Amino acid sequence: MCGVFGAYSQSGSAVLEDIYLGLCALQHRGQLSAGVAWIDGGSVHIKKGLGLVHEALSQSELAQVEAHTAIGHVRYATAGGTRPEDSQPLGANYAQGPIAIAHNGNLTNAVALSSYLANRGAIFQTSCDTETIIQLMAHQPGTVQLEALETALSKIKGAYSLAVLLNDCLIAARDPWGFRPLVLGRRDDTYFVASESCALDIIGAELVRDVEPGEILVIDRRGIISRKLPKEAQRHHHCSFEYVYFARPDSVIDGRSVYSARKRLGSCLAKSCGCPREAVVAGMPDSGTFAALGLAEEAGMDFEAGVVRNRYVGRTFIQPTQRVREAGVKIKLNPQPGIFDGKEAVIVDDSLVRGTTAGRIISMIRESGAERVHMRIASPPVRYPCYYGIDTPSSEELIAAQMDIPELCEKIGADSLRYISCDELCEAIGLPLGELCTACFDGNYLEEEDDQSLLEV
Ligand code: SF4
Repeated sequence: MCGVFGAYSQSGSAVLEDIYLGLCALQHRGQLSAGVAWIDGGSVHIKKGLGLVHEALSQSELAQVEAHTAIGHVRYATAGGTRPEDSQPLGANYAQGPIAIAHNGNLTNAVALSSYLANRGAIFQTSCDTETIIQLMAHQPGTVQLEALETALSKIKGAYSLAVLLNDCLIAARDPWGFRPLVLGRRDDTYFVASESCALDIIGAELVRDVEPGEILVIDRRGIISRKLPKEAQRHHHCSFEYVYFARPDSVIDGRSVYSARKRLGSCLAKSCGCPREAVVAGMPDSGTFAALGLAEEAGMDFEAGVVRNRYVGRTFIQPTQRVREAGVKIKLNPQPGIFDGKEAVIVDDSLVRGTTAGRIISMIRESGAERVHMRIASPPVRYPCYYGIDTPSSEELIAAQMDIPELCEKIGADSLRYISCDELCEAIGLPLGELCTACFDGNYLEEEDDQSLLEV
């Protein structure tokens, strides 16, 4: 999961400070690195570094840059290494002109494409799948950049939401399945593209609309042109996990409020999973909080902010090793003293991935005096890995893939454990199963043809 952001000012105003602020709002989508790119004097300029936005970039330096169009990226590595050169945006000055690209998603045929290109002389500078797009463009000598980009996009498979900078032109493109979100915004004569609408709020821009799956938006001095990718999808595969966990609750994705979806997930839990009425309901902060509110509201139970989160420690989900992950739970979450004393507790979490966090917090809640602890999960069991831009572990590490629900309940030390179904997940999001990707829950991955002609450039 990564975040992309782009801006184009038609009146020539400087946009890099907007990019910086937009990236700050998208920080939850990636904490490994941050970067920005702009084009000046016919060449790409890139500033990027490892760490959070404020660590990787200097706001005051960027505010001095006069660029009227630019893109930015926050990275959470799902493909490629973690070296500084793997940070995005990636840029190049090739025969047809400068290009910079920021990518959210995972290309599922990048390995085959990059080995095809390497055999024809391409020298890859990074280990990112995104570089394949630039190399595909550079291997079309004499083709104007926009056309070369469209041809490159017709050859890649998998998930991509892109912000691309060409000479005096900002491009937003979303794969035909719509895996990752991408929105268009506007403030006066400046257009913005962003992974999530919350990034528009911070800069005072209004949400115009989602970039449609399979759409390429070309933004320049003349306005916006919408083009269609040559590849058509049979159906959409909007990532359901964005609504469950990844996206910020104050974002609107594909016309649906993430906050409302999360509350409805909790309401589904209340209707189908049964909770003891006298219990105290608490959410695992922050991503389980809104589902807990929805559950408590629907069931007429008391909601308490019963688990406190240390805001200055990152998400345990994205820590790199099991040892660090386990240490992370202890310093990250703490039960509110006195809230659970002598009571039953219903703890709501968005999902169970490895189960480490749930096991630790359940034992901490028991230690704080709870008589019984019931776990409620606002998504179906995660049993399959994701190949579309989320770093879920392999099935061997996914706890729900390794045991059934009663075994899992025992493993995490809960008195009861319930999940919602895929149908309830879709109902809560407000999209039919045929519009959503639910592959990490049900194993129904996007089926793509094994088309060898894609490898011919
Ligand atoms: S497999 Fe899961 S996380 Fe990956 S895109 Fe599909 S729903 Fe989202």
